[in-house]
Amino acid sequence: MPTEPETGYDETLGNKFVFVTGGVMSGLGKGITAASTGRLLSNAGFDVTAVKVDPYLNVDAGTMNPFQHGEVYVLKDGGEVDLDLGNYERFLDIDMTSKHNVTTGKVYQSVIEKERSGDYLGKTVQVIPHVTDDIKRRIREVAEGSDVCIIEVGGTVGDIEGMPYLEALRQFAHEEDEEDIQFIHVTLVPYSKNGEQKTKPTQHSVKELRSIGLQPDILVGRADDRLDPETKEKIALFCDVPTEAVFSNPDVPDIYQVPLMVEDEGLDEYVMERLDLADDALPEAERHNEWRELVTQDQSGTVNVALVGKYGLEDAYLSIYESLKHAGLAHNVNVETEWIHAEELADGTDGQLDGMDAVVVPGGFGSRGTEGKMEAIRYARENGVPYLGLCLGFQLAVVEYARNVLGLEGAHSAELDEETPYPVIDILPEQEGVDDMGGTMRLGAHVTEIEEDTLAHRIYDDDSCTERHRHRYEVNPEYIDDLEAAGLRFSGESGRRMEILELPEHPYFLGTQFHPEFRSRPGRASPPFVGLLDAALELQGESTEEKRTDGPADEAEEVEV
Ligand code: GLN
Repeated sequence: MPTEPETGYDETLGNKFVFVTGGVMSGLGKGITAASTGRLLSNAGFDVTAVKVDPYLNVDAGTMNPFQHGEVYVLKDGGEVDLDLGNYERFLDIDMTSKHNVTTGKVYQSVIEKERSGDYLGKTVQVIPHVTDDIKRRIREVAEGSDVCIIEVGGTVGDIEGMPYLEALRQFAHEEDEEDIQFIHVTLVPYSKNGEQKTKPTQHSVKELRSIGLQPDILVGRADDRLDPETKEKIALFCDVPTEAVFSNPDVPDIYQVPLMVEDEGLDEYVMERLDLADDALPEAERHNEWRELVTQDQSGTVNVALVGKYGLEDAYLSIYESLKHAGLAHNVNVETEWIHAEELADGTDGQLDGMDAVVVPGGFGSRGTEGKMEAIRYARENGVPYLGLCLGFQLAVVEYARNVLGLEGAHSAELDEETPYPVIDILPEQEGVDDMGGTMRLGAHVTEIEEDTLAHRIYDDDSCTERHRHRYEVNPEYIDDLEAAGLRFSGESGRRMEILELPEHPYFLGTQFHPEFRSRPGRASPPFVGLLDAALELQGESTEEKRTDGPADEAEEVEV
C-alpha cells in the first residue's frame, strides 16, 4: 500500500494541532481514535504526524514491566516508548523518533538540567511557565514540517500528573489561531440497567476540563453502540458544543476498522472543516482508499500460530500479534495467534503444540520460561514446523542447537546462566562499554548484510535489511564455526554480530537478533512474518493435497479389487 502522503508538507497551511484528551476512565482507546483520525487526514493528502504525551515520571518506557504496561516499543532512533507509538506508526505509516514521546521524566530532566547550568538566570523555576514552556516547545518541535500534528495526552482528565499538560494546552489555545487548533475529548458513555445511554460522566469530565480553562471542540463518546441522537443532543447541550460536534465511537471487532467507522461518522470532515483544511483536501474520489480496501478484503482459511511467551497478555507482545495480522492480510488468510505459556512446556511440549501451523518465540529478558521456549523450538525444528525466533527467540534457537545437535551439554546464554560451561550467547566486549542513560543495550535501527542464496535473502529479496534492535547479548564468536559445521547457518550479519540464523534443511526455521515486528505495517507486512505464513500455507496445502490424493486413490483401489 503506497501510504506515504503524496502532497507532502504544505507551508501555506502552517502547523495545525489536534489535541486529544480522555475522560472518565483510561483504556478507552483514545489513541486508536486519534490515530484513526490521523489516518483519514493523511488519506485526504495531508502530512500528518503525532505526539504521545505520557504523564509519568519515567524518562522513557525502557524499564517498564511489559506485564503492567504492555510491550516496550522500539523506534528507529533507539527510543524505548509506550506501545501506543506503535499504533501511530502502523496507522499513519510514519517513522517516529524519541521526540514524538513526551514524558514528564524527560520534561523535568531538561528543566532541571537547564536550572543547574544557570539558564534561568537566577529566576524561581516553576511549573508555569518553565515546565509548560518545555512541553509546548517539544510539541512544536515535532509538529514542524507537518501539516497536522495530533497530540494525545495520556491518562484521564483530573489526574494530578496530567495537570501541567492541560495547562500547556490552555496556553496553546491562547497562542495559536483558532483555526489552527482543535480539542477532541474522548469519554465513556455507559449504559444504565435499562439500556439507556448515560451522559453524566461525560458532563462531569467536560466540567473538569472547563474548570481549568479548556473547552473541547469535539466530543467522542465510547460506547458499545453508536450514540443515540438524543444522547448526542444532551451531550451537546450540557457540554456546550454543537450537536454535529458529538461523535460516536462504538466497539468494533478489530481496531483496523476504527478509521472506517470514524469516516462513516464524518469526524475527519468535521476536523478538516474546523481547521480550515477542507479546500486543500484531495477530492473524495481521489483520496487514498487502500486502508479500507485492505481491511475489508475477504480472507479465507486460517493459519494457527503458537506464540510461546511468558506473559499471557496480548499487549505484552502487541507488535508481534499485529505483524502476524499484517502477514495474514498479505496472504488474505486469517491468523489465529494462540498464546502458549512457556513455563508449562519446560518438561516437553506434551501435545500442546500439535495442530499448530507455526511457532513464534518472542523477545524477552530473564530466565523464566526459557526452558519451555527451547522445548518449543526443539519441537519445531524436529517436526519441520515453521519457526520464527525474535531476539531472545533467536538466541534460544542457538542454545537449543548447541545443546541438542552439537551435544554441548549445559550450553546457555550467559545472561541466563552465568556458570554455563558453554556460553554460546554472551556479551561482546564492545557492548559492555556502552552505557548511555538507561544501560548497555544495543538499540534502534542497524543494517544487516544478508548472504545470497539463503532463506533470508529470499524473503527480504535484498542484500541487506535495516531493522530495529533491543538487546545486550550476541552469538559468541567462539562457537560460530562449530554451530555452522553442525548445520546452522548464519545468513545475516552486522560486523561481528550474527543477526539472522536459518536451517537450510528445514521448511522454515528463521531467527533474527533484531525485532522485525517494529517495522511491520498493515500494507507492508514484515518479510520474516510473510515468509512464516508462506511456509505454513504451503505445508497446509501439501497436507490437504496428500489427504486428497490418499482418499480417492484408496477408493479407486477398492473399486478395482
Ligand atoms: N535478553 C536478551 C538480550 O538482552 C534478548 C533481548 C530481547 O529479546 N529483546 O540480548
